[in-house]
Amino acid sequence: MPGDNLPIEPSRETLAFLDSEHRLLIDGEWVWGEGRTIAVENPARETPLAEVRAASLGQLDEAVAAARRALRGRWSRTGGRERGEVLNRFADAIERKLETIAEVMTLDNGSPLASSRMVTRFLAVDTIRYYAGWATKIAGESFTPNLGPRPDTDFLVATMREPIGVVGSIVPWNAPPGMIAMKLAPALAAGCTMVLKTAELAPLTGQLFAEAWVEAGGPPGVFAMLHGHGEDIGAAMAAHPGIDKIAFTGSTEVGRKIVIAATGNLKKVSLELGGKSPVVIFPDADVTAAIPAASMACYLSTGQQCMAGSRLFVHEAVHDEVVEGIAAHAAALTVGDGMAPSTVLGPMISARQKARVESYIAIAKGDGAEVALESAAIDGPGHFLGPVLFSGVRAGMRIEQEEVFGPVLSVIRFSGEAELTAAINGTRYGLSGSVWTSNVQTALRVARQIDSGQVGINVHGAMSPETPFGGNRQSGWGRELGREGLDAFLKTKAVSINIGPLP
Ligand code: NAD
Repeated sequence: MPGDNLPIEPSRETLAFLDSEHRLLIDGEWVWGEGRTIAVENPARETPLAEVRAASLGQLDEAVAAARRALRGRWSRTGGRERGEVLNRFADAIERKLETIAEVMTLDNGSPLASSRMVTRFLAVDTIRYYAGWATKIAGESFTPNLGPRPDTDFLVATMREPIGVVGSIVPWNAPPGMIAMKLAPALAAGCTMVLKTAELAPLTGQLFAEAWVEAGGPPGVFAMLHGHGEDIGAAMAAHPGIDKIAFTGSTEVGRKIVIAATGNLKKVSLELGGKSPVVIFPDADVTAAIPAASMACYLSTGQQCMAGSRLFVHEAVHDEVVEGIAAHAAALTVGDGMAPSTVLGPMISARQKARVESYIAIAKGDGAEVALESAAIDGPGHFLGPVLFSGVRAGMRIEQEEVFGPVLSVIRFSGEAELTAAINGTRYGLSGSVWTSNVQTALRVARQIDSGQVGINVHGAMSPETPFGGNRQSGWGRELGREGLDAFLKTKAVSINIGPLP
């Protein structure tokens, strides 16, 4: 582990949580998982952190049946005030545990503690409060239809906005508090019920969310929390006839499997998938601001974030300045245990993920990319990997095409907008992107050309509960957050009312 950047000890609350029994929450009861044991590792130390037991397929059935019963009861029928109040109490309970959740997220997936706090506060607590407000504002509309064949009748149409049903939520390991809240809060505000499967590589913050739900007096069956592996519990959820919708965040490969498995009952599917997002720097950009921003657009979370700006298109007039600036910025980023105060880049989640990233570095070198920065190997324990910067990358190289999910940034030089436009959408992904320029016409023109769910102008990766978030092409289906994030859990029923003479 690098240098004198020493980790702080977890709090007493965190240690007590780690020592506690990690049961599943099914129908409001804490029960032992009857499936396989999942040994959770601290990726910064390669030491055991906790053990959780996966749910069995029978326990998944019980959770789905309880979610169905809860859906048929008061939860989905009452006005939204009760749901809004429960969500606000849930947010309060998470806020009370915020420091424990942040520490557990850091120990579980390696994120720097400051990032874990940000994710829990701004992506979880704020999102839950935002949707608590929406719960009382769900409404249909009414209008007079044009009934062509029956001009003498008098009709009114009222549309009802109804919950989509029992939702299965499957989340990844990289920012679980945010990923869980972005599904759970709008689904529950809409009157749905939810069965969550945590990520097997980082299941523990999901456990704390379930504890917060119970503390908040959340009704039984409305929210179930299961642990389990993707290939058994995850796959069974995707195929489950009792689940009406899967809300998934994860890789494009698994997203495709979920779509196929969902065909049995044609359940609805929303997908937040991978990315290979472009960052574009024009010569008239404020380069001093763009350099650290482009560096962090990729290296934040050690590159383990879906919105990573891992393809950097730099105009030739500022190319060398930007490459040298990013190499210097990235070389100064402290790599280490997320519990250490100076850490900016935590470890890779697993030995497997580290090896995968290293194999991409070798592929890029083999394909002729030039190494502008490669950090020295960092001795274990801990799956550490320093930032890597490639210049001379050409569109079509594998390092330019495939999601690495690690601290590897590829710089592509461009000279004119026509050439840029041809390359910018040249991958299968369309999640995010950013444009750096002081010219408003250039900014808006290029932002419009980027085929992605969100794009920043002189900012990368901005998110808020109010702002829709999602991917185009193979980065996903649908949007989370904002009004659209709520609509994703509602269906419309049109009721035609005869207010004229009876036929
Ligand atoms: P992953 O796809 O391997 O796993 C995600 C979840 O899917 C896990 O809970 C896993 O258990 C489950 N799963 C695995 N196989 C399954 C199957 N056959 N059926 C059902 N569920 C299954 O992804 P990961 O490694 O946990 O996360 C990294 C990926 O997530 C990256 O591709 C990243 O870009 C993406 N991601 C996307 C967003 C977004 O909002 N677009 C956010 C974070 C991460």
